[in-house]
Amino acid sequence: MTRIYNFAPGPAALPQEVLTQAAAEMLDWHGSGLSVMEMSHRGREFMSILETAQRDLRELLAVPGDYRILFMQGGAIAQNAIVPMNLVGRKPQPATVDFINTGQWSIKSIAEARKYATVNVAASSEASKFSSIPPRETWRLTPDAAYVHVCTNETIGGVEYHFVPDVGDVPLVADMSSHILSRVIDVSKYDVIYGGAQKNIGPAGLTMVIVREDLLGHALSICPSAFDWKVVAENESMYNTPPTYSIYIAGLVFQWLKRQGGVAAIEQRNIAKASLLYDYLDSTDFYGNPVAKDCRSRMNVPFSLHDASLNDTFLAGAKEHGLLQLKGHKSVGGMRASIYNAMPIEGVRALVDYLKEFEKQNG
Ligand SMILES: *Cc1c(COP(=O)(O)O)cnc(C)c1O
Repeated sequence: MTRIYNFAPGPAALPQEVLTQAAAEMLDWHGSGLSVMEMSHRGREFMSILETAQRDLRELLAVPGDYRILFMQGGAIAQNAIVPMNLVGRKPQPATVDFINTGQWSIKSIAEARKYATVNVAASSEASKFSSIPPRETWRLTPDAAYVHVCTNETIGGVEYHFVPDVGDVPLVADMSSHILSRVIDVSKYDVIYGGAQKNIGPAGLTMVIVREDLLGHALSICPSAFDWKVVAENESMYNTPPTYSIYIAGLVFQWLKRQGGVAAIEQRNIAKASLLYDYLDSTDFYGNPVAKDCRSRMNVPFSLHDASLNDTFLAGAKEHGLLQLKGHKSVGGMRASIYNAMPIEGVRALVDYLKEFEKQNG
């Protein structure tokens, strides 16, 4: 069997240990004689899988007791509608919501929120082609906004917040799809955190929402019951049949993370991995990275070849070296290496070795 290094932005690499364990448990989970996929979601076995996953996630992120962890479906893209449907009802209609526009995922969130609220783009880095985060002092926030939305890691542009914005008493909502669990965060500084699982948590199909309890119970009447956070919370994420197998794999990833030493330990490894790659890209004019140094993502590293006509040769050679999915997003072009928690440093070393070799042959 050959496993390649998978630099895909999502669905993304999973820890090999997790896949091995899932394979071993596939036909007979813990002597039940069943695969997790075949179990009743309300049965004792699956309930224990879900509860353990939630408990481990709470422990890993040190989620305070007054926050609920919800396992939902529809991805972060569905939350773009679910967030306003659950939060704007706390204000007289039409409510205003503030957005910070830092790239393609912010743009998607903004477009969807416009269906439910008046959107104020309080700051944008569009003029710099989304290569930075607008400094907090420049944000023009609405004093009584229903919430402020940020995308704390722009997966496509490769910009990441390395600070938590202070937005006063207005709820702060963060799309953390592509860097959740990659770094220590103070959950109490946010009011809602959400993300699709397929970058840093597990397989596609599961969406994670962490919401402070007092924000529940304000959903608009048009909000589907399955997307009303309060209904989901009251039913322990079982209002409808949850994505059971995705939850099981996410649970194995949480246990793997705990064995790695938790989020603080993986953060140190992520810093080392990102530095290795950025330091090399910065050391040569053959490659370039457009992002301002103080907001470079540790998870998604876009880079370009100085001569774009070499792109296809670069990708073909990378594939021969077992380095896959390095093609950049069509809106940015060039290359992108996504180096989530499950990417070992050996994979980043192999990539840097290949970057050097390709430069030597083509520079
Ligand atoms: C991948 C991604 C999304 C979209 O997630 P889906 O699960 O496809 O809905 C949204 N936001 C960010 C930051 C992402 O990286």
